[in-house]
Amino acid sequence: MEYLRLATLIRAYAVRMTHRGKSGHVGSSLSMADLISVLYTKILRVNPSQPDWQERDRFILSKGHAAAGVYVALAEKGFFPKDWLDTYYQDNGRLSGHISHHVPGVEFSTGSLGHGLPVAAGMAINAKRKNKNYRIFALLSDGDCNEGSTWESIMFAAQHHLDNLIAILDYNKIQALGRSKDIIDLEPLTEKLKAFHWAVKEINGHNYQQIEDALTNVPLESSKPSFIIAHTIKGKGVSFFEDTVSCHYKYANEEELEKAYNELGVKI
Ligand SMILES: [Mg+2]
Repeated sequence: MEYLRLATLIRAYAVRMTHRGKSGHVGSSLSMADLISVLYTKILRVNPSQPDWQERDRFILSKGHAAAGVYVALAEKGFFPKDWLDTYYQDNGRLSGHISHHVPGVEFSTGSLGHGLPVAAGMAINAKRKNKNYRIFALLSDGDCNEGSTWESIMFAAQHHLDNLIAILDYNKIQALGRSKDIIDLEPLTEKLKAFHWAVKEINGHNYQQIEDALTNVPLESSKPSFIIAHTIKGKGVSFFEDTVSCHYKYANEEELEKAYNELGVKI
C-alpha cells in the first residue's frame, strides 16, 4: 500500500538522518509520518517539477523541528535528489535541522513555535481575496497550541470564514520537556475550538482511512476553517521511542539504528 510504503520510508530515513546528524527530534518525525504520507501521496496538489506553481496547495510544517520527515516526502516526490537526505544536519549540507524555505517544496521556515498557523491564515485570506482555489494546510504540534499567536490566528481565521485553511494537530500529547497535560493541558480541545467557531474532527493519526477521509472532505463545514485533531503516538513505529518524552531530543545510536530498521522492515 502506497501510504504505508512512504510512511515507512519517512520513519526509516528520519531515524537514519537524525542518527547521522547526531541531532534530535526523531520522535516528532515518527509521530507525523502517516499524516505526511497521506498528505503528499493523495491530498496536496503540488508539482515537484514546478515547486512555485501559483495554484499549488500550500503546506506549512509549523513544528519545524520535524523537518526530517517532510524532507523525505519531498525527496520521494522528486522535489530534490534523494542524496540530499544524507546531508541533513551536516556542516554545509543542503538540509537544515529545522525546516527551511530554501529547500524546494518548502513554503515557510519554522522552528520557534506558534508561527505556522498565523502565516497559513495570512496565506488563506490572501487566496480568498484573489479568488484562488488552492488550500492552505498547517501541521501543528502540542507545543504550538501553547502559543498565544496560534490562538490569535484561530480567532482571525474564524472571523474571516477561512474555509480554505486546514489545521492538523499531531496530537501525541508530549512536548519537548514533558507531557502536555502537565505543562499546559489543551483539553477539552474540541470544545474550545468549536467555541472559537472552527469545524473540528478527531481522528486516529495512524489510521490511513481516517486520515484520508478527513483530509479529502475539507472544509469540514462551509465557511468555517477546519481543525483536524489527529491522535498520535510520539516515536510511533520504533518500539524503544514510542510514547517517551526522551525521544524529543534523542537520536538512535548504531545498535538502535539497526534495531529500528528491523522493526520497520526496511534498511537504507
Ligand atoms: Mg507533541
